[in-house]
Amino acid sequence: MKRYSVFAVAREAARYHTGWERAWKSPAPKKKYDVIIIGAGGHGLATAYYLGKNHGIRNVAIVEKGWLGGGNTGRNTTIIRSNYLQDPSAAIYEKARSLYETMSQDLNYNVMYSPRGVMMLAQTEHEVRGYLRTAHANALQGVDTRFIQPDEVKKLVPIINLDGPRYPVLGALWQARAGTARHDAVAWGYARACSDMGMDVIQQCEVTSIRQTGGKVTGVDTTKGSIDCDKLGIVVAGHSGVVADMAGFRLPIESVALQALVSEPIKPCMDVVVMANTVHGYMSQSDKGEMVIGGGADGYNNYTQRGSFHHIEETVRALVETFPMISRLKMLRQWGGIVDMTGDRSPILSKTPLEGCFINCGWGTGGFKAIPGSGWGMAELMAKGQSPLTDEFSLYRFREGKFIDESVAAGVAH
Ligand SMILES: Cc1cc2nc3c(=O)[nH]c(=O)nc-3n(C[C@H](O)[C@H](O)[C@H](O)COP(=O)(O)OP(=O)(O)OC[C@H]3O[C@@H](n4cnc5c(N)ncnc54)[C@H](O)[C@@H]3O)c2cc1C
Repeated sequence: MKRYSVFAVAREAARYHTGWERAWKSPAPKKKYDVIIIGAGGHGLATAYYLGKNHGIRNVAIVEKGWLGGGNTGRNTTIIRSNYLQDPSAAIYEKARSLYETMSQDLNYNVMYSPRGVMMLAQTEHEVRGYLRTAHANALQGVDTRFIQPDEVKKLVPIINLDGPRYPVLGALWQARAGTARHDAVAWGYARACSDMGMDVIQQCEVTSIRQTGGKVTGVDTTKGSIDCDKLGIVVAGHSGVVADMAGFRLPIESVALQALVSEPIKPCMDVVVMANTVHGYMSQSDKGEMVIGGGADGYNNYTQRGSFHHIEETVRALVETFPMISRLKMLRQWGGIVDMTGDRSPILSKTPLEGCFINCGWGTGGFKAIPGSGWGMAELMAKGQSPLTDEFSLYRFREGKFIDESVAAGVAH
């Protein structure tokens, strides 16, 4: 595959862009692969990429029922941070954050990583104590965060109202090296790199059943025919319960829709990401100038990938106290994605009761930021049967009571 570079852009400009090749191939499925990954979202593609790059396993197919990146990976609000409380979480999210820093160079694809800083507002005494505790934990974990006072919050975010009538801003947990990246580009960059390694990214190919013999996985049936494999990775986010059912086991997760919306584009007014967990809302400004706004998850289980009117009202009402200027903005569009939530708000990266079948799910409202770290760990788990990044995130922790409680770090915000 030809490298993208400033010279390539100049050359193609001179010949009216007739020389670009397709970023990834669209092959028909082969009869058998060493590994099949179900789900071409960021996590599935990153798993395949690191299987090839770190472990030399390249006879891999990534099968996707829709279009790649069309699930939550293309629907999220792109916040990347690693300021989690528990050690296993900080390890995998910090690994991911550090891989994001060099992802554009590693993949030769501009994922527009923007380390603009993420701020989590403390608007109650309880939150102040919680974030101080997280800042101390992060110091021990080598994650670069600190608790800042209201005057520094105002300096970083001039449009903020510190004296909200219900919830004044009492400080914030600040991670300067956190930020955002272009979500589609992350999926596209990994897909291009996988295709370049000889892997097959097969879109419009829904897995309808999982085949097994003697408790071991042997392949999948899809809308494009049956495909055999030695190992299988289930990486389907909101549909994890449905696909696990095909493999014959149950998951401790609930699937709910999570929604977001964007405003009309306006002049640059805020160059950090602000999250306000007490009032349930967060906001950043996209490169196009739109204010990207996210809120909470639906209060009931469902598989709708749609927005709903009451969410716009609830989220904007929550944020308007802290950002009065948004009361005059027109909202352009809203959407939803299906997220899979575990009870301890931590993901599952694990072997399963079906031999040769692995699962990566349960990222809930916050898995975009984890994509490269999760792919790295999942690939190691699938290749070697064990990874220090995924050890604690086993499916069996729910049976053994070894929860990784991140409900404060991940319960609402992303
Ligand atoms: C509105 C919203 C805002 C969010 N904001 C953030 C944020 O700011 N920061 C953050 O870190 N995270 C955020 N998230 C969460 C994040 O988007 C997800 O955790 C992450 O994208 C999950 O990636 P994935 O690759 O596991 O899943 P997906 O991208 O959903 O990919 C799974 C794929 O599996 C495919 N699939 C399903 N069933 C089958 C089948 N039977 N056969 C074949 N393919 C199948 C689907 O079509 C899909 O493409 C947000 C999510 C939403 C919805």
